[in-house]
Amino acid sequence: MRIVPRHGGWLEVVCGPMFSGKSEELMRRLTRATIARQRVELLRPAADTRHGPDELVSHAGQRMDGRRIADLDQIAALEADVIGFDEVQFFPEGIVDVIDDLTQRGVRVVCCGLDMDYRRRPWPVTQALLARAEFADKLQAVCLVCGGPATLSQRLEADGSPASDAGPTVEIGNGERYEARCRACFRSGA
Ligand SMILES: [Zn+2]
Repeated sequence: MRIVPRHGGWLEVVCGPMFSGKSEELMRRLTRATIARQRVELLRPAADTRHGPDELVSHAGQRMDGRRIADLDQIAALEADVIGFDEVQFFPEGIVDVIDDLTQRGVRVVCCGLDMDYRRRPWPVTQALLARAEFADKLQAVCLVCGGPATLSQRLEADGSPASDAGPTVEIGNGERYEARCRACFRSGA
């Protein structure tokens, strides 16, 4: 059971592997706050260039206005009751203190992001936020190998072999692809 704090702000974290519906869950929570006539902001990391500059589009095609943040100083000036962060692991590490300040000021913060990278190592920002959160949810995807519940993001080379652990943590558009996998079907790269 969840009991929302009566006074002040709080932090919710929604994490999980790729394709687990994190952005949909974030948008669902923010939409409900908008219906309740709260002031809502959705923020995205500057590195997120997959979508337009002012809009977040989920894998399922859901859309919501969301501004890209290039400088963390932009955040403190926002007038909002609820602030959502998409792909929070891609913000600089200073985001953890910024979010702490927001919650201390009475803002409800909802963060979604990857809990682990393709090597099964925790993302530092998500890890720190999970430790501080009042509420945390780990979403599951569907394992593309066995159909079971997936908690891991498998990076694959173009030939289908597991990507090397020595590769960069963030890599976009070099021919590799990602699959959600369960623990039993996950393959580590050499
Ligand atoms: Zn599996």
